[in-house]
Amino acid sequence: MFSFNSKGACPDCKGRGVIVTELVFMDPVTTTCEACGGSRYSEEALSYSYHGKNIVDILDMNAEEAEEFFSGCPKIRKAVHAMVEVGLSYLSLGQPLSTLSGGERQRVKLAKYLDKRGNIYVLDEPTTGLHASDVQAVMELLDSFVKRGNTVIVIEHNMDVVKLADYVIDIGPDGGTSGGEIVFTGTPSEMAWHGKTITAEYLRRSLQ
Ligand SMILES: [Zn+2]
Repeated sequence: MFSFNSKGACPDCKGRGVIVTELVFMDPVTTTCEACGGSRYSEEALSYSYHGKNIVDILDMNAEEAEEFFSGCPKIRKAVHAMVEVGLSYLSLGQPLSTLSGGERQRVKLAKYLDKRGNIYVLDEPTTGLHASDVQAVMELLDSFVKRGNTVIVIEHNMDVVKLADYVIDIGPDGGTSGGEIVFTGTPSEMAWHGKTITAEYLRRSLQ
């Protein structure tokens, strides 16, 4: 009932929220569905509410708001709290997956594994598009994975991430086709002290 792809769909627009009118010699015209006002839901689905909010209001909430709103509902609160823990508190519950950045999608996946141990995770630039404060949140998250007995391998250019690694494998000497060789391996502090690579130079600069 609370999925617009299923039983809860508005019967007029079939859950699309818009009506597309095909015109013979012109581009199709898209208008907001009048029956549901673009909400995608049937009248019946919209008639149900929880603490004064219907399904559309709830999908509009971000994870942080939802965590508070569902504080009396442990099952939902736990799922939403996982989103907050992976630094996605600003995402709304109804946000389509297709609109997430690569880094956000990786973190959504990680949210599922928060209580697992003994796994190896390989992440490709998980901090892309993040503010400095969110990078911190992701690093704390990855640290918590390691503390729980998992291995985390991160491909990153961000020095705030490199500096917090236990071990760095620097691949170079340059980018693209001029790279591909291992030019340094060691801890971040070893790299800062005697690394002779481009990354080592950036690492030293970021520590100043
Ligand atoms: Zn509709």
